[in-house]
Amino acid sequence: MIRASAVDKHFGSLHVLKDITLDVPRGQVVVVLGPSGSGKSTLCRVVNRLEPVDSGDIAIDGVPLPAEGRELAELRADVGMVFQQFNLFAHKTIVDNVVLGPVKVRRIDKETARQDAMRLLERVGIADQAGKYPAQLSGGQQQRAAIARALAMRPKVMLFDEPTSALDPEMINEVLDVMADLAAEGMTMLVISHEMGFARRAAHRVLFMDDGEIAEDSTPEDFFRAPRSERATDFLSKIL
Ligand code: ATP
Ligand code: MG
Repeated sequence: MIRASAVDKHFGSLHVLKDITLDVPRGQVVVVLGPSGSGKSTLCRVVNRLEPVDSGDIAIDGVPLPAEGRELAELRADVGMVFQQFNLFAHKTIVDNVVLGPVKVRRIDKETARQDAMRLLERVGIADQAGKYPAQLSGGQQQRAAIARALAMRPKVMLFDEPTSALDPEMINEVLDVMADLAAEGMTMLVISHEMGFARRAAHRVLFMDDGEIAEDSTPEDFFRAPRSERATDFLSKIL
């Protein structure tokens, strides 16, 4: 579903992605972890072409990422993205945040989009917040709204870049629970997160990134019990 082959990416002289090859089959949940600066966010961003690559190929559901234009917009709509900072539109209500994409990009009629939006808000447990503005919600509620907004586009894949790292501890689980439900329903997911409980519970694979490379690709059981590299061992000892 997500396929990257021989992807290279520099920022100036900094080599941030080094010959990355990655295959996330349909329905798989892959958790990416690794030290700060190792290239995790960049990997996420090249998958929907928020960042161009220097070389290599990326395809979503067998379709190579187009460089620009309408085709790129269409393919991007298939890839939902949730960031650390929820990035909701501050001047729109929660339900309007969710309705916007489907109406504008998917050209769904407003009433249908609204009904879909309410169903999604129900699913993430914040239907009662639909008429409020983002600033009136807790961080955990805002992040669940951001997930609902991404799901409203009916994406084939969901990318999460540290979705809980800006949250107060008591709100982390309400977001991870929504993500675990999504995983259990068979969504294909690439999740950057250091939440080991989530990785253990929901991930099929764990990738350890180090210095622009995928240094390990294993099951969560194997990775957390006995990482193969010294760098991963060192990394785990710091986050545990
Ligand atoms: P963190 O855990 O801190 O989020 P990360 O693994 O997500 O780190 P990236 O954000 O992918 O790391 O960054 C990888 C490297 O690329 C870092 O050295 C970063 O400073 C650099 N970098 C990222 N974005 C840019 C940019 N737009 N321009 C220049 N350098 C960048
Ligand atoms: Mg990052």
